[in-house]
Amino acid sequence: MPLNVLLLGPQGAGKGTQATRISSEYDIPHVASGEILRAEMAAGTDLGNRVRDVIGRGDLVSDDLMIELIRARLEQPDTDAGFVLDGFPRTLVQAEALDSILSGIGRSFSVVFSLQIPDEVAFERLRRRAQLEERADDTDEAIQRRLDLYHEETEPLIEYYRTRGRLVPIHGDRSENEVFAELQSALEQVPA
Ligand code: ATP
Ligand code: MG
Repeated sequence: MPLNVLLLGPQGAGKGTQATRISSEYDIPHVASGEILRAEMAAGTDLGNRVRDVIGRGDLVSDDLMIELIRARLEQPDTDAGFVLDGFPRTLVQAEALDSILSGIGRSFSVVFSLQIPDEVAFERLRRRAQLEERADDTDEAIQRRLDLYHEETEPLIEYYRTRGRLVPIHGDRSENEVFAELQSALEQVPA
């Protein structure tokens, strides 16, 4: 059985970090919407240039564009053994589209993790990241905008998956190793 994992949680919750570890431990690709967009921007493609301003402000890229990008990515054969998805869906429209993408390829989520941290912790982690990496959207205004949008648009998806899927809440304000150990023990419960 393929291992299809979804990570939900606010910016700075550790989705990218944990998704990378899940990806290497279970040998499945890490599909990160933000990374796909940053690669497009870095390569200077039309798409990359179109989304640059929106991303810089901390706003959301349009649902239609995101849905097509993720559909194309999940249809690649390297996801046959599963994938770990991070950064998508961020809206109810995206979540509904994802359901139909997955059923189109005969898939469903093995597990949906909701990584939870307080806003103050999220904000501080993102500011620290801003000093380490050069991300144009790690300004104070863009960080606040992303957290606000998370609460408005994305947090309701926790309830969406609670009623539909195998939702596992995870306390994210702990060390990277502690969080990963908890994810692993949940992943071991996934029926093979
Ligand atoms: P994290 O700290 O978890 O990486 P992030 O806010 O830095 O979270 P990314 O996932 O790296 O977010 O995405 C960066 C930007 O790309 C977002 O702020 C948004 O503009 C755009 N983006 C990424 N995924 C989506 C999506 N599913 N829908 C709309 N816009 C998206
Ligand atoms: Mg990320």
